[in-house]
Amino acid sequence: MAEAPAMQKRDAAYWRKLKEEMKEAAMSLGIDKIGVASADPFAELKERLREHRELGYESGFEEPDLDKRTNPALLFDEPRSIIAIAVAYPSKLKNPPVSEPGKRRGILSRSAWGEDYHRVLNSRLERLTAWLAERVPDARGLSMVDTGALSDRAVAERAGLGWSGKNSLMITPELGSWVYLGEMITNLPLPPDQPVEDGCGECTRCLDACPTGALVGPGQLNAQKCVSFLTQTKGTLEEWQMEKIGNRLYGCDTCQIVCPVNRGIDIRRHEELEPDPEIVKPLLRPLLTMGNREFKEKFGAGGSRFSATR
Ligand code: SF4
Ligand code: SF4
Repeated sequence: MAEAPAMQKRDAAYWRKLKEEMKEAAMSLGIDKIGVASADPFAELKERLREHRELGYESGFEEPDLDKRTNPALLFDEPRSIIAIAVAYPSKLKNPPVSEPGKRRGILSRSAWGEDYHRVLNSRLERLTAWLAERVPDARGLSMVDTGALSDRAVAERAGLGWSGKNSLMITPELGSWVYLGEMITNLPLPPDQPVEDGCGECTRCLDACPTGALVGPGQLNAQKCVSFLTQTKGTLEEWQMEKIGNRLYGCDTCQIVCPVNRGIDIRRHEELEPDPEIVKPLLRPLLTMGNREFKEKFGAGGSRFSATR
């Protein structure tokens, strides 16, 4: 599709200014961090994904087509940039209920504490779309959260939101890894941001703390061994797997809890992401007689370290 004439009339200075204004407006749109990536193919990522697959490390939730996962042009007509967004979620419980003898409690991953994050992120991307459309009526965009083909983490990294940690998660310098990610491929030639320097250094705490050795190397995750994945698979678990899972009901936060960058970070800017302690740390015994549907209705687990786009 040829570019709209109105779009062609705008010069580089216009797009630079628009990007600055968009960054200034982000907070008012409910977005905690925003950046812009080029829409070039993610060639290096494709190689890494291929290796990952060959080693049998995939979770099975991924988009199977590696070209679609790494080439924005296969998803969107004439992409010119990708806008990456991050929304921070709380990492601490106020007044957490404690386990008592005979009344043990489970725990949900922090990424599943609030409302389903797909809904939350999509609402932010809708606000951003409306904001852009007010300024550029011929703007087009394709928004994705988790279930799109692109890797949220690779886009966020290229857009300078943070670096890809040894725990294989996106780490933003200001919000840590307690963030949900989403992106929008656009026809707007916004200038790209610079990637952030890797901040892990010599640290290996996440690799050392992982209960199953799922982090097989820096930034390399064997999904099949990850507790987060195990809590989401159907079927019967083996004895050793149950031992490692412990009281985790959904997801696993160990490699985030031990991360020094995350220390002291607890962002609570979004009402819909506030946890209900009784839901995120529920009594275990009543769950034994609860059906799948009731479990989903009550807990509505909306996130984990796994997504279709890792
Ligand atoms: S989520 Fe848990 S099991 Fe998975 S890599 Fe992190 S620490 Fe290991
Ligand atoms: S624990 Fe250390 S190595 Fe792991 S992601 Fe955090 S800073 Fe990087």
